[in-house]
Amino acid sequence: MKVRFWGVRGSIPTPLSNEVIQYKISKALSLASPKDIASEESIESFVRSLPLSIAGSYGGNTTTLEVRNKYNDLIIIDCGTGIKHLGNQLLKEEFGKGQGTGTILLTHTHWDHIQGIPFFGPFYIPGNKFNIYSPYKDIKDRVEYQQVFTHFPINLEYMLAQKEFFIIDREGELFLNDMRILNKSMRHPGGSYGFRFEEDGKTFVFTSDCEFNIDELDKIESYREFFQDADVCVFDTQYTFEESINKIDWGHSSASIAIDVANMFNIKKLILFHHEPDYNDEKLDAVLSNAKSYINMNTRRRGKLEVGIAYEGLELEI
Ligand SMILES: [Zn+2]
Ligand SMILES: [Zn+2]
Repeated sequence: MKVRFWGVRGSIPTPLSNEVIQYKISKALSLASPKDIASEESIESFVRSLPLSIAGSYGGNTTTLEVRNKYNDLIIIDCGTGIKHLGNQLLKEEFGKGQGTGTILLTHTHWDHIQGIPFFGPFYIPGNKFNIYSPYKDIKDRVEYQQVFTHFPINLEYMLAQKEFFIIDREGELFLNDMRILNKSMRHPGGSYGFRFEEDGKTFVFTSDCEFNIDELDKIESYREFFQDADVCVFDTQYTFEESINKIDWGHSSASIAIDVANMFNIKKLILFHHEPDYNDEKLDAVLSNAKSYINMNTRRRGKLEVGIAYEGLELEI
């Protein structure tokens, strides 16, 4: 299966400010030698050689992931602002002609996970079909309520694609062709669900908006079926360890807790996700670098857990 990240930021969309862009330009110029800027080609190659945090950004759009199974079926996880850009891409294909079919899985209905729906182009094209799954019994009402006239000029029903809502069993399984999708209830204000995707012996786990505090760690065995032996796990790491202690019950985790959980369940690759809106790109570099140091402190698991950090455009083949 393939996974592409279209939105990685937590809580609120976070565009770059002019101040930050100017800082990045200054930083890049301070690293350039005369030969780096001698020609258009050398400038291009110099820019490509710079780290993402200087030449680009981890991204400011809120949660949206695109998952493709082996038949290239489209599965979308969450509808944050990242879904607008995914929608623009889909419109170039069969979704632009009203011939597309897709599945949407919703973890929960906090704004940062549904706010892109009114701007999702394929929803406006008649003929497109979407099946929307969630364990919340009132999921349709929740999504419709976002677009009442006082909040947005176009109701959900006036977006003319066929949109069918399905309530799935809490902590139950769902099958899409050969892919099994298990959901797991997570600790988060108002609740949230993680999803585990299994296909042909490969496993991808997605859990955003989850708090693994001391209470959850006490009953960690109840998470075994969900996490065990995942090839890739995307995990909510919004806070640093210090912040996670000061923000008990805010509903998010830190990289160090994510690493502890990954080590407990033999996860092979961990992707840090749902970045704090107040963290700039340099801070996210530091979050990743600290995570690598923390992994290396565990000599028993050293070399067995790989860690990366989510950014817009990241693609994984699992
Ligand atoms: Zn969130
Ligand atoms: Zn949330």
